Amino acid sequence: MKKILLIHTGGTISMKEDKSTGTVQQDRQNPLLESTGSINKLANITVVELFHLPSPHITENEMLIMAKTIKEKIMQDSFEGVVITHGTDTLEETAYFLDLTISSNAPIVVTGAMRSSNELGADGLYNLISAIKVSACEDARGKGVLVVLNDEIHTARNVTKTHTSNVATFQSPQYGPIGIVTKRGVSFYQTPLNRQTFDIDSITKNVMLLKAYAGMDSILLEAIKKLGIDGLVIEALGQGNLPPAMVGGLNNLIKNDVPVVLVSRCFNGFVEDIYSYDGGGKQLKELGVIFSNGLNGQKARLKLLIALENNKNGNSLQELFKQ
Ligand code: ASP
Repeated sequence: MKKILLIHTGGTISMKEDKSTGTVQQDRQNPLLESTGSINKLANITVVELFHLPSPHITENEMLIMAKTIKEKIMQDSFEGVVITHGTDTLEETAYFLDLTISSNAPIVVTGAMRSSNELGADGLYNLISAIKVSACEDARGKGVLVVLNDEIHTARNVTKTHTSNVATFQSPQYGPIGIVTKRGVSFYQTPLNRQTFDIDSITKNVMLLKAYAGMDSILLEAIKKLGIDGLVIEALGQGNLPPAMVGGLNNLIKNDVPVVLVSRCFNGFVEDIYSYDGGGKQLKELGVIFSNGLNGQKARLKLLIALENNKNGNSLQELFKQ
């Protein structure tokens, strides 16, 4: 049996519903700790209860602790795979953070649940079992951090939460899942082409994320410039365009050496320097805005943060975001 590290961090998968109020909350004891019987048949599992937090309480600091713990345990105790249970709200961010900061080929699988442990149709234990099966699968090696829920295997880079309550919430727009978990096994039918990892030791930078809207101007850009931020990601319109009233504020940030990364608020497609009108992609590129290749806003933010922690700047940032 494979030697698998199981890290619990909290989320609905570790919560219970209060039947009298219908609200969902953490219990003092994580209910997943009671499911050892059904999971110990699948692998030689070591459980670490690292956090017991709802995922909106997870910050980059907890993500870094997870990355350090995983790297240390894989190196020192030669675990062959890792499973992390996590709240679904920020699951894609933690998964992508780990993908960017851990270079091991051992399968690292993040899972969660949409229904808490005592709800009708609870999906937590089922997803945990699927995630353990994937983490113990030879074919999962070298594919980067994976997200497994609802019988599907997604890459951390492409997956996103698409529905507030449906158990099929995790999707990879444009690309689809790379594999499937069935009753008899685990099958992959796509392999990610490239992967970037960065060595970081701490989180010291402040990177923000803004979403563009029709009629947006430079007020927010001027305000955040005063905060002395280290980087900014903007979810732009369509193919990578912004209202013209934002150009002045953007120019000020870039002149002050604040890197600005552009993604689209559309969840399919790339941003490119196609339109030459005022505020269009061509003008933004000429200003020095960095165009990101298909990442959503929250993931581009983490990539910029991690790249800055890794001392990347200027042209090297441009290159990083091309991949
Ligand atoms: N709000 C919960 C969380 O992210 C949602 C979940 O886990 O499904 O912690």
